Amino acid sequence: MITFRTHGIVSVSEIVSQSRLTCAASRSLAAEARRRIGRVLRHLTPGFGISGAAGPSLREIVRMRLASGDLFRVDGNVWAAQGDGRQTCAICSDPIGKGEVEYEAVSEDQEPAFAHIACFKLWREESYASHRRQ
Ligand SMILES: [Zn+2]
Repeated sequence: MITFRTHGIVSVSEIVSQSRLTCAASRSLAAEARRRIGRVLRHLTPGFGISGAAGPSLREIVRMRLASGDLFRVDGNVWAAQGDGRQTCAICSDPIGKGEVEYEAVSEDQEPAFAHIACFKLWREESYASHRRQ
């Protein structure tokens, strides 16, 4: 847990440093939450993640996740960059490898999420569709 001093002088660099730690801790918590949600989805939909198994399609899962609020809606505003192998796709849960293009979308809470190009396309289509359904 990170606490800010309430008395005395706190340097700007100390505040920046503590803020970075807080952001890193928040990202870690968000990643853990996504892993847990993924486990719940796999439990509720046994075919999830098994190639060729009967079960909801990735599009249907994205639709459910958008409806439940697990996944935020995206528009066309994203960052695209060369993958470095450190990010996991928020849609298919596979790593985004080196040499692949990763799309980074940011939620209203400034939480970043990464996706493969094809996964992002699906995510954007379902985001627009869910917006129209409201
Ligand atoms: Zn993906």
